[in-house]
Amino acid sequence: FLDPHYIRDRIRTVPDWPQPGVQFRDITPLLQDPKTFRVLVDMFVYRYMDQGLDLVAGVDARGFILGAVVAYELNLGFVPIRKKGKLPYMTVSEEYELEYGSATVEIHTDACRAGDRVLLIDDLIATGGTMIAAAKLLNRIGANVVEAAAIVDLPELGGSQLIKAQGIPLFTVCEFE
Ligand code: 5GP
Repeated sequence: FLDPHYIRDRIRTVPDWPQPGVQFRDITPLLQDPKTFRVLVDMFVYRYMDQGLDLVAGVDARGFILGAVVAYELNLGFVPIRKKGKLPYMTVSEEYELEYGSATVEIHTDACRAGDRVLLIDDLIATGGTMIAAAKLLNRIGANVVEAAAIVDLPELGGSQLIKAQGIPLFTVCEFE
């Protein structure tokens, strides 16, 4: 069951969503089936159970689902990295470029303690912009990003290479072209 193909085979591809030409990799079937959800979570739990982590951070919004469950199973706290304007307390922000326009992610300034060993989780790496911005936020509030992790990598978009080039170790379960 802990074979990456078990996960890859259960991701649904939706053509032309959210716009023509995009092949959206839909992870909701992984969450909906109880056995698949458990296998997915366990892959992350086994990988990170002996890494001396202090905290798990998840990226808005699909990164919350996996990130929160992995944090709970590792007996760690969970921190949300959110899209602009959603967090109520003091925040730091990072803006990053999208294909058309830009996006901003934010984190609470007191979301971790200096030197905390943090695992950063999202569902998918495309251009890598989201994950890099999220890692910068964590670094700015004093965290040590031990690894960035996602279910899916789209290697042709180059994001995983960019993330590693920033010195951030990266783990993904499977790839799509
Ligand atoms: P990036 O910043 O790497 O270009 O895009 C990754 C972000 O966009 C992630 O937060 C991810 O949730 C979302 N995303 C982009 N394309 C897809 C896709 O095909 N499937 C899913 N599930 N998320 C995507």
